[in-house]
Amino acid sequence: MPDLFIKGATIVTMDDEGSIIEDGDIEISDGKISYVGPHRERGGAPDDPNPAVRTVDAAGKIAMPGLVNTHCHAAMTLFRGYGDDLPLKQWLEEKIWPVEARLSAEDVYWGTMLGCLEMLRSGTTTFADMYFFMNEVAKAVEEAGLRGVLARGLVATMPGGDKALAEGEQFCSRWNGAAKGRIRTMLGPHAPYTCPPSFLRKVANSAKALGVGIHIHVAETRGEVDDCLRDFGKSPVRHLEDAGLFEVSVLAAHCVHVSGEDIDLLKDRGVSVAHNPTSNMKLASGIAPVPKMLEAGIAVGLGTDGAASNNDLDMFEEMRLAALIHKVNSMDPTVVPARQALEMATKGGARALGLSSEIGSLEVGKRADIILVDFGKPHFYPRHDIISHLVYTAHASDVTTVIVDGKILMDNGKFTTIDAEETTYMVEQCVERLLRKGNRI
Ligand SMILES: [Zn+2]
Repeated sequence: MPDLFIKGATIVTMDDEGSIIEDGDIEISDGKISYVGPHRERGGAPDDPNPAVRTVDAAGKIAMPGLVNTHCHAAMTLFRGYGDDLPLKQWLEEKIWPVEARLSAEDVYWGTMLGCLEMLRSGTTTFADMYFFMNEVAKAVEEAGLRGVLARGLVATMPGGDKALAEGEQFCSRWNGAAKGRIRTMLGPHAPYTCPPSFLRKVANSAKALGVGIHIHVAETRGEVDDCLRDFGKSPVRHLEDAGLFEVSVLAAHCVHVSGEDIDLLKDRGVSVAHNPTSNMKLASGIAPVPKMLEAGIAVGLGTDGAASNNDLDMFEEMRLAALIHKVNSMDPTVVPARQALEMATKGGARALGLSSEIGSLEVGKRADIILVDFGKPHFYPRHDIISHLVYTAHASDVTTVIVDGKILMDNGKFTTIDAEETTYMVEQCVERLLRKGNRI
């Protein structure tokens, strides 16, 4: 017996056929999709008086897979608007790293909770995160009800690299598969320029032993590539291959400055890529050759990166920018069409995170991670093309309802698991303490 019905929606399934079902129903049992298809009359349901069966009337709404944010540092919401308009190196060294050094576990918990709140509000149901105090991040994800692929960030060029790796290993052992499978873990060596090859090899061996993947920033700036060529005589991608990193599954964030040879290597080694158009633009890092990576068959997902370099966690915006930036970059309006952008934000992201058998499309047997978008707003008329509207027209604020693992986390704009007022209040308290007079950088 299903425990949740969504009835009368226009369903954008994102299945392999690209099916769109008008006046469709979705039934959810034990957190999984048990029916998706045309509206059907049922004995006793959906108007069953049994209060245990919740029916969501989705007339006038789009039902689609929850968005997948493949690269984030959710707690960096604490630094939203703190240190804008600077180059990456200066931004990290002069603004972000000094204030991050003062973060407490409580700060990270509330910063992550704010990130979860913002992601739910904008239709994101899964995110990949790399940060520290990860037990707090996992706790926030568990309580908020989202799905998270979480990695303890590791920087080996500062003291404590080995200690951080030990912490990362413990984190994986404790949390991989936790929250009824909603939490998965990875190891998170920050970048080739903050982790020497001997450390990267240790991380790869550890990931192999733990049976987890690796999340790392790769080839984000031109300077990183130049330094790698100078120090090691090879590109960051080749450098990681030689350090043994690609012996396990790797999620490579950015890959802005990658050559044709690098792309072939990423494809051969099954490396996934998280494309972050806003962050790459804001930090003037460059434009990743995403059309080439997609053409090569690499699993490419979209990410917001942290809110300090974006400055929000709005995946609708990433979708739209991904569809636009590659057009103007190539002077070709046929590049990254709407459907491809929507795929990167849903099933492509799921594939990039190794979760494509569970999420990314609305199909029987998959976990019920579903969002409803209010399609009655003026900017959705006329209805020439639903996919086009979702990518080029929709706003995050059009999302009304968010379901993860069959549980309603945002119900017609109301949060069911997070106290929004408490979260924003606590974030203000944390930031006040962090940047108290004398602490300000
Ligand atoms: Zn990042």
